[in-house]
Amino acid sequence: MATVKKTAGASAKKDSPSKKASQPIGLVRGMRDILPSEQMYWRMIYDKASALCDAYGLERIETPVLEDTALFVRGVGKQTDIVEKEMYSFQTSGGDNVSLRPEGTAGICRAYIHHGMVSLPQPVKLWYWGPFFRHERPQSGRYRQFYQFGCELLGEEDAVIDAQLVLMSWLLLKELGIEATVKINSIGTAECRANYRNALVAYFRPKRSRMSEDDKKRLLKNPLRLLDSKDPVIQEMTAEAPQIVDWLDEASKNHFMRVLEYLDEVGVPYQLDPFLVRGLDYYTNTVFELFDSSNEDSEHGQNAYGGGGRYDGLVELLGGQHTPAAGFAMGIERIVSKLKSMNVTADKKRVDVFVAQLGEQGRKRALAIFEELRLAGINSSESFAKSSIKSQMEAANRLGARWTLIVGQKEVLDGTVIIRDMEAGTQEIVDGRKVVHEIQKKMQQQDEVKGSN
Ligand code: AMP
Repeated sequence: MATVKKTAGASAKKDSPSKKASQPIGLVRGMRDILPSEQMYWRMIYDKASALCDAYGLERIETPVLEDTALFVRGVGKQTDIVEKEMYSFQTSGGDNVSLRPEGTAGICRAYIHHGMVSLPQPVKLWYWGPFFRHERPQSGRYRQFYQFGCELLGEEDAVIDAQLVLMSWLLLKELGIEATVKINSIGTAECRANYRNALVAYFRPKRSRMSEDDKKRLLKNPLRLLDSKDPVIQEMTAEAPQIVDWLDEASKNHFMRVLEYLDEVGVPYQLDPFLVRGLDYYTNTVFELFDSSNEDSEHGQNAYGGGGRYDGLVELLGGQHTPAAGFAMGIERIVSKLKSMNVTADKKRVDVFVAQLGEQGRKRALAIFEELRLAGINSSESFAKSSIKSQMEAANRLGARWTLIVGQKEVLDGTVIIRDMEAGTQEIVDGRKVVHEIQKKMQQQDEVKGSN
């Protein structure tokens, strides 16, 4: 087992004293259970996401939850909030410095390099789905373990890739019935950004005295982060701040214009946001985020459904060849919460047959019949732990079963089964060996009646 040497946020706290055996052990702060009642939303989003990726020719990839800490320090950036404050990092007993992944792109780039994907036909189109970890202050819509669905297209510099990614992220939400607003910006190349950075520092420096200590640090280390500050004082200052668009070189401007033209072509509505920068160092040129259209207060990363952009330098930064690339990640919890608020319901599993039993012999036979039904592909249900026939019939009604099979002591001795038509309230006795066939016949008759109506 790994020995935790240092984990974000844990330094000041002592180990909690061992709990009394009788005391229930609670959830770790910032973690949550995804209960059965919520699973239908997760499945809905997963099914839509995977179908979309299939349609656009992306292939699924899974990378480990645990990576070398250096991957994120180098990839995401030393001065970012994620690396500076939010990573779950520790040293294993073997002396390796590892971190729970806070985001997906760096791991995918590592895999691209590690598996020599540069020799595959480009672009390499990948998608992922899984848990990520950030030691952030827990609040509504913000957890310390959260799930992301993400797409990465590596090995192509054309602006059409950026537009396709914006389209895909927007389409996922649209197909789920969610109207999202795309906010988009270009932050140019590293060189454009260096010049812009100087202009920003020159603009904000005289205003330092009105800044919090944290924002003063940001001004020193990562002034672009001031642009998406939630502090109203900074927001007021930002309104007049220089805009990156005036620092873009011709190639970056041209690239951005083409992305917007492609988006116009496919009818994705977007808003230009000159102060959208995103919190990770690796972005170049296009950056975008998706917000709830019905909530105008959701600004810069606050309650965004997701975001992404181009990261042309990242693969090289991680030791690979120069590989232009772009991607996005969507937060699943945020989408689930929206679907819940929209009272979206999934189709319930249809139950054709309920298997009821009476007495120990009946229960044994019912177990076997249930298995025969399952193998025949018939949607069935049961409550074998119950012995009262009344409560089993209630369960069958609740589930909306079309037929209930009843197997009691007498039926076992006779080798028969009772089929109860739950709509008509009629019963018939059939040969136990032919019960599956009888049900199949009834289902077929029912389909024919439905078809002729
Ligand atoms: P990011 O790449 O950091 O912008 O993350 C992409 C998306 O993941 C965000 O827009 C959120 O929807 C989601 N996300 C990021 N961090 C968290 C978190 N701590 N809890 C829940 N969702 C998150």
